[in-house]
Amino acid sequence: MSIDLRSDTVTHPSPSMREAIASATVGDDTLDGDPTTRRLESRVAEVLGTEAALFFPSGTQANLTGLLLHAEPGSEVLLEAGAHHIHYEHAGLAAIGGVQIRPIPADGRLTADHVRDALRPNSRFFPRPSVLSVENTHNQSGGRVTPPSTWDALVAVAGDLMLPVHLDGARLWNAAVAADVPVERLARGATTIMVSFSKGLGCPVGSCLAGSRDDMDRAWTIRRRLGGGMRQSGMLAAAALYALEHHLPGLAEDHAKARRFAERLTSHAALVPIPPETNIVMLDLRGDRQADWEAARLAERGLRLSVFGTGRLRAVFHRDVSPDEADRAADLILDVVR
Ligand SMILES: *Cc1c(COP(=O)(O)O)cnc(C)c1O
Repeated sequence: MSIDLRSDTVTHPSPSMREAIASATVGDDTLDGDPTTRRLESRVAEVLGTEAALFFPSGTQANLTGLLLHAEPGSEVLLEAGAHHIHYEHAGLAAIGGVQIRPIPADGRLTADHVRDALRPNSRFFPRPSVLSVENTHNQSGGRVTPPSTWDALVAVAGDLMLPVHLDGARLWNAAVAADVPVERLARGATTIMVSFSKGLGCPVGSCLAGSRDDMDRAWTIRRRLGGGMRQSGMLAAAALYALEHHLPGLAEDHAKARRFAERLTSHAALVPIPPETNIVMLDLRGDRQADWEAARLAERGLRLSVFGTGRLRAVFHRDVSPDEADRAADLILDVVR
């Protein structure tokens, strides 16, 4: 059996999650509502402190919908330069919304100062910024956390500029565990929030967009337009409800596995693991070691990692990898570079 650390999306639904799926009460969600999906949406709204939430098949679609609520064609969206939305969502805003992206380099941790510095003066010559989007945790930088104080300052600067704030919280659960605050604390003041169930929470499918009731009514139409209207979605919502109850506490263990793994790797001079804040470890290789070459050799030995650049590998810890396997993964890497 190989150890798969390519992403936290590789997790399989556990036997009891499959039982929750099998016994879900369902309806036609697009026609007149699915009861289990309704229950999930209320629960998510409650957890995030919003009026309403809407269930989506993917985070990509929920992000796009959230941003399209705020950004009219010809306006620009302010994002950190490494944002998931810029790199992994196939230019959805440009292709579908006629919206320009304004990347702000901040190494994964956007601050109010970055936003202030990036803004052009109000002028008829410049495109109008329509929304600020913040990603927490920040995937490409290795799961960095935007803590409550930084988040509050971002919300405040957006308020000064009268910009809505979209929160890409695919791993907001991890951020809340790392910052040791309720998840609502890291979402406070956001106009719309996206959270995923298919990452560390271990569900097969699903994300939610949360916000005001008015915005979620409009989001329903956009979701339908994008092909995201579902039918007996209670099968999927049941998995998400199960995960919120049973898998959320396990995220702290994922962070602990990541920390141990990174510490173990510091013993070799050719390896430079970035100390993780959450469940993602970026591993830089010294000298002329090629990440794709090392990854192929590790795969032969039963360890799967992502290549994140010519000299960088990524390991993501999740509920389907045990602490023992995490240690074994580190030992395998030490063995291969020796
Ligand atoms: C995975 C991810 C998404 C998109 O979610 P999908 O369900 O894969 O479409 C969005 N933002 C971030 C930060 C992610 O990590």
